[in-house]
Amino acid sequence: MEQSIENKLIKADQAFSEWKKVPFEERQILLRKAAEILKANSEKFGKIITTEMNKPISQSIAEVEKCALMLNYYADAENVLKPETVDSEYNYSEIHFIPKGVILGVMPWNFPFWQVLRFAVPAILSGNTVVLKHASICFGSGNAIEEVLLEAGFPVGVFQNLEIGHKDVKEVLEHKAIKGVSLTGSEKAGAEVASIAGKNIKKSLLELGGSDAFIVLNDADLDEAAKVGAKARLQNCGQTCVAAKRFIIEEQIEDEFLPKFIEEYKKFIPADPMNKETQISGMARPDLADDLENQFKKALENGAEIIIPLERISDTEFTPGLIRVKEGNPILQEELFGPLGMVMIAKDDAEALRFANDIPFGLSNSVWTKDKDRQLFFIENLESGTVNINRMTSSDPRFPFGGTKSSGYGTELSLIALKEFVTPKTIVGN
Ligand code: NDP
Repeated sequence: MEQSIENKLIKADQAFSEWKKVPFEERQILLRKAAEILKANSEKFGKIITTEMNKPISQSIAEVEKCALMLNYYADAENVLKPETVDSEYNYSEIHFIPKGVILGVMPWNFPFWQVLRFAVPAILSGNTVVLKHASICFGSGNAIEEVLLEAGFPVGVFQNLEIGHKDVKEVLEHKAIKGVSLTGSEKAGAEVASIAGKNIKKSLLELGGSDAFIVLNDADLDEAAKVGAKARLQNCGQTCVAAKRFIIEEQIEDEFLPKFIEEYKKFIPADPMNKETQISGMARPDLADDLENQFKKALENGAEIIIPLERISDTEFTPGLIRVKEGNPILQEELFGPLGMVMIAKDDAEALRFANDIPFGLSNSVWTKDKDRQLFFIENLESGTVNINRMTSSDPRFPFGGTKSSGYGTELSLIALKEFVTPKTIVGN
């Protein structure tokens, strides 16, 4: 390992020995200050995001503002890490929550500020320090986040950006200073990183891919479902783990719903990402666009039909595509991380549920129906970390975020995330 990287790990470890003693409420004051800096500079940071990964600038600015909201949520959060007393026959009968130490974050490019802060903020508020391995195209975002936290008053070493490639992650994770890892990204990267963590008996948290269903039933508000559905698929150029990727439509409303959906979908026309009116622009990297094009071909070779063709117009840009897919098409077992949606037609609720669950992933499904019993049927039976009723998925700091099955394990956001990288220490006896 390069000496400069090892020095940062040592610095993070040294910073931990002081940071863990800082009271929860004092850490919260610094978070509030960082939120103010983010909010005041959302345009500047938005430009960094757009320059690095092509996201339309209005969505980049919104991402930074959402980070500020999340920081304020944690700045106001109840201290759930206070020692707890357990009712028992002992004089000492307590649980203390002890931060683990330096936590490594391996983060992706699709939300360059949000993904990092979503992991780092609860970890730091719990008393840990953080080192970041950001996606190789997002080192500018990583450095900007480090500067924001320093300007807010966080001590040197509490958060550091490492600027390393993915090949260096193994050595960093194996280093004795690192006590845990949180990764957001592909299944492949997640499996590799979690196996290194497991071999070294270090805690891991994985937030991986998804292929969420957007189920539209015959009593839904079809205009609203069509409008929200197009946004749920195409926001961030379709590069969102919790994007709606499979539109499962009840057979009876196919003829009424699909034209509305197509009309909304066609409003997303690729344009200059720096223009504030732009809703969709290019994908983050040309190789990711190649992957999507290959998946489109694979879907067609296995019987998918084109509703709107996926047309490549530059190395990273497409006019968004929509395909009709039948059960059994192997493409259904893959994540489509770009502007290509799948439509499936289900004859009833039971079939819609079967289609929705028949994938390796389980992140955040969305169901559109006004009927309470039907809502409950899907709430109880969908295999995912979140179920949305008559809304698209968008994470909210107040609620836990995470998946089941191959979408990963562990919880981000909400008060639960504060307990991900701590050890409950039992104090018992007389
Ligand atoms: P990766 O999973 O490869 O990248 C995410 C992060 O993991 C990056 O920081 C990357 O570093 C790092 N990484 C990659 N491989 C390893 C490894 N073997 N060991 C340690 N760290 C690693 O995503 P891609 O950018 O290649 O995108 C591929 C697919 O992943 C997408 O099409 C999508 O399906 C999924 N994905 C899911 C995301 C989500 O939000 N759940 C986000 C991004 C991607 P580096 O940049 O240096 O390679």
